[in-house]
Amino acid sequence: MNGALLIIGDELLLGTTIDTNSAWLGRRLAEVGIEVKYKLTVGDSPKIIEDELRRLLEKFDIIITTGGLGPTLDDVTKKSIAKVLGKKLVLNERILKAIKKHFQKRGVEMPAINMSQALIPQGAHSIKNPVGTAPGLFLKEGEKWIFILPGVPSEMKAIFEEGVLPVLSREGKKEIRFRTIKTTGITESRLAEILDRTVKEVSGYVIVSFLPRHTGVNIRIKIKKGTEGGDELLKKVEEKFTEKIGIYTYGRDEETMEEVVGYLLTMRNFTLSVAESCTGGLIKHRITNVSGSSKYFIGGVVAYSNEVKQNLLGVPEQTLQRYGAVSQQTAISMAKGIRSLLKTDIGLSVTGIAGPSGGSVEKPVGLVYIGLLSKGKTSFEEHRFLGDRIKIKEQTAQAALDMLRRYLLNA
Ligand code: ATP
Ligand code: MG
Repeated sequence: MNGALLIIGDELLLGTTIDTNSAWLGRRLAEVGIEVKYKLTVGDSPKIIEDELRRLLEKFDIIITTGGLGPTLDDVTKKSIAKVLGKKLVLNERILKAIKKHFQKRGVEMPAINMSQALIPQGAHSIKNPVGTAPGLFLKEGEKWIFILPGVPSEMKAIFEEGVLPVLSREGKKEIRFRTIKTTGITESRLAEILDRTVKEVSGYVIVSFLPRHTGVNIRIKIKKGTEGGDELLKKVEEKFTEKIGIYTYGRDEETMEEVVGYLLTMRNFTLSVAESCTGGLIKHRITNVSGSSKYFIGGVVAYSNEVKQNLLGVPEQTLQRYGAVSQQTAISMAKGIRSLLKTDIGLSVTGIAGPSGGSVEKPVGLVYIGLLSKGKTSFEEHRFLGDRIKIKEQTAQAALDMLRRYLLNA
């Protein structure tokens, strides 16, 4: 199955908004085995949208549009799509109710203009919008599928994850057999080296792609169309790969690092506390993204200043003076401090230089220490990350969670 993206919005052409939707969709679709072959950005002009949609419908199996679903006059997407498909726009009572409820929750009356958001092309299925008013829409026209999503990135992503993906994987199951192996702490080139022979061995029936991100490399294995025994084969190939990659593999498909860590903590019946400096709470944020994390996550401190490191975590002044705030000694002392403050089985800490300022020759931007303390065990890691401030924070959080994961595997 091949897909095309039709990205709609005047602001994208004027350059006042940068189209991030298509990049995100391209990556997400690739991860589930659907290749985006074409993307097109057009303004809020009915005539152009209609012409281009007709052309896309001739060539592609799946078309995803974003933008122009709002209640304002410039939002013309639904009308144009309905016109191309020769369908009427009809009022959908369920959607209307949901929109009214959304406004009710915020304590305001629904403006009359929002009524138009409940108009959908006849035969379209609505896809729930967990974070806004305009739902996504799904239309099946023979072999062709059209997904209509809002332009607001957070809404688009939420609808895609909760509504589009399930449809794609359910309906696409017959044709697509793929698996994503998630790795971290190892570079793409090193992985390619380790897997070189295995990739060649299976190349007759498997397509392998490496999808690198700064927090790790995902490896996508896709069984070629028409191959017999797909599911069994997929399992075998996955095993072959993970055996070679070993400890660097932390999960598969939709699994996140924080889910894996949460699972392991639950299995071991351990509690966790976290002291963070340069990540400013990102690790705690990720841990608490997992529902049920209260079972193992007790809490933590964002110890950004030296005063907090000293006064709340009990890091000795001499340690800070002698080795500096970014040092293995401070990291270990922070982990020890948070562990005893919150009386947990494990204390995890990070301290580092996120940049762009504050680096030196001895301690460059991207230098990070992670500390881990548990009963009878003290360990630390030193990392040197590259990238901007946000990327360094994200890599730090990922590495800290991964260090915890590896500890838990052997605990
Ligand atoms: P709304 O209900 O907010 O009107 P909509 O579906 O009509 O939703 P648009 O009006 O096209 O969406 O865009 C809403 C917001 O989302 C705008 O701030 C816009 O800049 C942003 N946006 C739209 N398309 C994209 C895109 N492709 N990439 C990033 N941001 C986008
Ligand atoms: Mg709009």
